[in-house]
Amino acid sequence: MAAQAVVITPRQDPWEMALRQYNVAAEFLPLKRGIREFLALPKRELTVNFPVKMDDGSVRIFTGYRVHHSTVLGPTKGGIRYHPDVTLNEVRALAMWMSWKCAVVGLPYGGAKGGVIVDPKVLSLDELEHLTRRYATEISILMSPEGDIPAPDVGTTPQTMAWIMDTYSMHRGYSTPSVVTGKPLSIGGSFGRVEATGRGVMLVTREAARTLGMQLSGAKVVVQGFGNVGSIASWLLADQGCTVTAVSDTGGGIHNPRGLDPRAVLKYKEERGTVAGFPGADRVTNEQLLELPCDILIPSALEGQITAQNAPRVKARLIVEGANGPITPDADEVFHGRKVLVVPDIVANAGGVIVSYFEWVQGLQQFFWTEDEVNQNLERIILRSFSQVMSTADEKRTTLRTAASIRAIQRVAEALMTRGIYP
Ligand code: NAD
Repeated sequence: MAAQAVVITPRQDPWEMALRQYNVAAEFLPLKRGIREFLALPKRELTVNFPVKMDDGSVRIFTGYRVHHSTVLGPTKGGIRYHPDVTLNEVRALAMWMSWKCAVVGLPYGGAKGGVIVDPKVLSLDELEHLTRRYATEISILMSPEGDIPAPDVGTTPQTMAWIMDTYSMHRGYSTPSVVTGKPLSIGGSFGRVEATGRGVMLVTREAARTLGMQLSGAKVVVQGFGNVGSIASWLLADQGCTVTAVSDTGGGIHNPRGLDPRAVLKYKEERGTVAGFPGADRVTNEQLLELPCDILIPSALEGQITAQNAPRVKARLIVEGANGPITPDADEVFHGRKVLVVPDIVANAGGVIVSYFEWVQGLQQFFWTEDEVNQNLERIILRSFSQVMSTADEKRTTLRTAASIRAIQRVAEALMTRGIYP
């Protein structure tokens, strides 16, 4: 593909995006003014600055956050992100989206998110462990199995969760596995959790394609972001007969119109640290990748990747948001006008928090499920939610994003009114 000039536009503030989406949906609901204002605000926010001893003996200061958006439906749930571009506004947005995600799929959780401003790729394993244990200690005033339960997100892994669980347990004096989810199986993780978000993306893609009358077999799929969500969604969709023609990560993208073998690409990425350079594929930039000819586009990297600038050039008829917030509200309007079906993040990538919920329940009960039980229950819950959101979108004549947000906000507002305003 010929190199194109890439126009760099400033990333849209994720918190502005989240608020705009919230306000659009809230207009459909008869919310009292105070309730509407309250649900637009994070309930509490913690900023921590903390020192970490590096391998060379120096001390570096890091900044991290933990935001609870809502505790109306239950304990807060949400991942922890390690990325150099983390901001408080990003964590706020991700926490609010977690509230709506848990509400729309019917989980008994409020929304939270955490983040540390760090590039985990440049730290040694020891440095990452020190950083994680110190951050976990700093946010332990908010974290507990009954109060706030973190999970992995961009830049964190099951190993990160193991360090958090161990740190918290050391402080308590006994093992407390249910304080985090996304743990390794050896310490109380759940079968199916690693694959859960990608599996949910595959299930929702299959269902959405069916509603469009699109055959999955042979459908061309492009995936931006080849991490936990993107890589697993890619191989599960390839197993469904899709042709995955392009994938990418921070190192760049690869494209083969005849199809890539996602498992071989993952093996290559595990050895080299990036998909770029995969043999037999052309190189594309992340920007070019979004505009490649395809039937289904699965953005699975970060927020704000598809804007009003590039949305008109996106060729896909179906977009399934593996990532949180990859499409700006202006781009959403472009897709609505062009009749491109967008399955919003709060439904499309809810598989992760659904199986995190199963992991938490299993841990609290000390009674563990088989992988089949996990996958069957995941499928039942995520497809029920997808079908409810489709019906609401039909009924209200709106997008799936607004329909999903309406359902979610309504559920939280109802619970809030039933609980009453304390004191
Ligand atoms: P990850 O760290 O495993 O992978 C992220 C991938 O995105 C990496 O391959 C990275 O190289 C790539 N990437 C980062 N910036 C990019 C860019 N600008 N262009 C292209 N690729 C880029 O993270 P993950 O857990 O797969 O999370 C990805 C997205 O999915 C995030 O938005 C996250 O919030 C969301 N999500 C994750 C889960 C989960 O269970 N892990 C659940 C729900 C939603």
